[in-house]
This record gives sequence, C-alpha cells and structure tokens, in this order.
Amino acid sequence: MHKLNPSTQKQLAARVNYYREMGIYDFYRRPVEEGAPSLFVEAEPEAVIAAGSGASLFDSPLPVIQDKPAALKAIREDLGDCTRCRLHQGRKNLVFGVGNVNADIMFVGEGPGADEDAQGEPFVGRAGQLLNNMISAMGIQRADVYIANVVKCRPPGNRTPEKDECDTCSPFLMRQIEVIRPKVIVALGAVAAKNLLAINDSMGNLRGRWYDFKGSKLAVTYHPAYLLRDPRQKKEAWKDLQMVMKYLELKAPAKAPE
Ligand code: URA
Repeated sequence: MHKLNPSTQKQLAARVNYYREMGIYDFYRRPVEEGAPSLFVEAEPEAVIAAGSGASLFDSPLPVIQDKPAALKAIREDLGDCTRCRLHQGRKNLVFGVGNVNADIMFVGEGPGADEDAQGEPFVGRAGQLLNNMISAMGIQRADVYIANVVKCRPPGNRTPEKDECDTCSPFLMRQIEVIRPKVIVALGAVAAKNLLAINDSMGNLRGRWYDFKGSKLAVTYHPAYLLRDPRQKKEAWKDLQMVMKYLELKAPAKAPE
C-alpha cells in the first residue's frame, strides 16, 4: 500500500484549502508521466518520516486561476447577504468590486460612500469621478482596471471603518486580489494602505515606493476624496501614478485630463 509522506500531505492539504477558498471544489487526476518523481513512499514509519524533506511540486508559485469570473462569483456567494459585522445594518447594497478580471492594475479604496451604497458599485460618486480622471490620465480606461474596497458596506455617515470591520471584511478583498492577480495594486489612502500592508505609518512615509504584495507590486497614493478636499496634493498623486505608469510602460495621452 502507498501513502503520501507527511510533508506532502500537509502541502497538499494547504493547496486544496487554497482552491476551496477560491471556490474550486472539483479535482481531476492526470495520468502520471513515466519517470516523474514519486510523491508516494511505502507506509513504513521510518521511510515516511525520511521522505518528508526536499523540494516538491508545491514549491512552485500558486497557479493563476483559470476561470476568474467563476472564482469571483464564488467569493461573492461566500459573502452572501453578509451580517458578519455591524456595517450591514445601514447598507442598501453590498459593494463587491467591479472591472476587468484580467486587469494589470487594481485600485483599492476604503469603503463605499452614499452613491456607491445606492448603486452597489465602487467609486461612482465625486471621488469616483476623480478616480476615473486619474485612470484616464494614465492612458487607460476605468473598464481596463479592477476596483474594490477594504470594507464592502458603507460605514454610517461615511466614517472611517473600524479595525474589527476591516479585519472581518479584508479576507474577501485578499481573495479578490488572489483571483485578479494584478501586476500593480494601487492603495488609495491610508485605510487601504494600512490594511493591505499591515503597517501603521503616515501617508508621507507610505507613498513614493514599491511594496511586494502577494506576487503583485503595490503602490500607495492619496485617496481621491482627500484630493477633492486638498487639490494641491494632486501633483503628488500624479507622481505616484507616474511611478505605476513607468513600471507598466503606460504612456499618458497627449493631453492629460486634469
Ligand atoms: N471611497 C472609497 O473608498 N470607496 C468607494 O467606493 C467610494 C468612495
């Protein structure tokens, strides 16, 4: 009788768990190629333990999800009619995320405001209009990117989401990021930056550099709502976006919108 060695068992369990998280439940066996290294050891205790070391198939990076719309749908279904935190009490619509599932860029905001709550789509109000302009200035369109928030329900009176609300909701954002696998994530404002990076620092210190995040590059810039309140900072935000454009080899249109 053949048995998987404990290390492989553990890695396999972690991998299956990852797929479950992505909403993938069905697995099919592929015939093993002749001469391929075996994952199996004879079920003798010493041999089982001795075979637990060394590189394995599971050292390779996680595979790209093939059916991204289905994986996102599974995440949305897991959220369901969410009552996991108090924010559900005041919401009209849960705001999941929107955009191109194969986007190179994913923008992450803080949480829905009144317009987003009413329409069930992120960044559709005044801040959303400015975000659209920022995206156009980069030489791309809103439809080219993916947009989501740290919390999916509107905080009352547009207050900043509390830590426990962010902690409850952000695993769903992490799963969205793992499905989209953008080349670049742009964290819009301190709430997004701090939740994604788990760093408590000022925007001044967080901006202006790259972070490695789940196989993506992550940049931090000002939240469009902040830029509406203090338009002088638009110049700084433009520097952040230019850093992203340089990395992705994007060219600004001849006449950049404001
Ligand atoms: N502000 C955000 O952080 N997200 C939105 O979706 C809208 C405004």
